[in-house]
Amino acid sequence: MITRIVNAKDGLDEAVSLIKNGELVVFPTETVYGLGANAYDAEAVLKIFEAKGRPQDNPLIVHISDASQAREVARDIPEGYYRLAEKFMPGALTVVLKKSERVPYVVTAGGDTVAVRMPDNETARELISRSFPLAAPSANRSKHVSPTSARHVYDDLEGRVPLILDGGECRVGIESTVLDLTSDTPVILRPGAVTAEMLAPVLGIVPGSGKVIGIARSPGMKYEHYAPNAEAYAARDAASAAEFYDKCAAEGRRPVLLFDDVHAAELGARERISLGGDVEDFMRSVYAALRLAERDHDVIIVQTLEGGGRAASVMNRVMKAVGGKMI
Ligand code: AMP
Ligand code: MG
Repeated sequence: MITRIVNAKDGLDEAVSLIKNGELVVFPTETVYGLGANAYDAEAVLKIFEAKGRPQDNPLIVHISDASQAREVARDIPEGYYRLAEKFMPGALTVVLKKSERVPYVVTAGGDTVAVRMPDNETARELISRSFPLAAPSANRSKHVSPTSARHVYDDLEGRVPLILDGGECRVGIESTVLDLTSDTPVILRPGAVTAEMLAPVLGIVPGSGKVIGIARSPGMKYEHYAPNAEAYAARDAASAAEFYDKCAAEGRRPVLLFDDVHAAELGARERISLGGDVEDFMRSVYAALRLAERDHDVIIVQTLEGGGRAASVMNRVMKAVGGKMI
């Protein structure tokens, strides 16, 4: 199969036809690129798992073009959903609801719940409104770092998908927050750019953390996602990063530092890929930096951020990428 990258607007008509014909299309969103298929077509959805090499017990997110479209893919929708929709949709928030009969079990990994999100990308929403809700995971090979550009997708899925809609670099840069609304109290199953602090005033309650209660509800959480093809570590601080870098270099290995510009002077002439100047920059650029680093380096040393909110969300991904290894 030939894989083509086409400007998102120019490729829209073709993308609609492909989806209607039960084929896959890669589309841009503000979080990461998605690998989409008609969410109502079990056979089409199976192609996603094949193209990614993804285990079938890892459920997909159903992308909708309008918050009210949740009524097609879910049932018994709680009132809280509509309050969240008003504030966070379109946006980087995925909500887990009870699934409707229209959604096949291959989408939900056999479960009775469905994850729903309305992406903040016009081309993506137009593709959906002109075809079907799209079941889509991130458009990377299973277990690799999620893609934040069309080129990243091409590097992973060349020959496995017919069309990649190029919408430029993703603005948010990590996968959406996943919030379960089917339990007694809302639970964050996966942290993201929409934080517990932002959700609490809308929900009227601070959501719980999936780290403690949510694991069994989210089969995807047991997999090591986001790992680069190189040995990777999180650094306690810049001093320990510099020390470890020097040790690796002395051993003849090729280390690289992924650090923000605040630490530039402290790290001196050591090779560094910039993660920008604030938490949002870090979030937006960390996956691209990991993908760049794995090309020419065998040791990747990533900065850690202190604190809660978005810093904690990015650290959730960094710790997965390094497999929990700290120096
Ligand atoms: P990806 O888009 O590749 O990050 O994969 C989708 C992720 O969304 C899964 O790995 C789960 O963490 C989450 N997810 C999807 N459907 C559900 C569901 N029904 N319940 C809980 N989590 C879900
Ligand atoms: Mg993924």
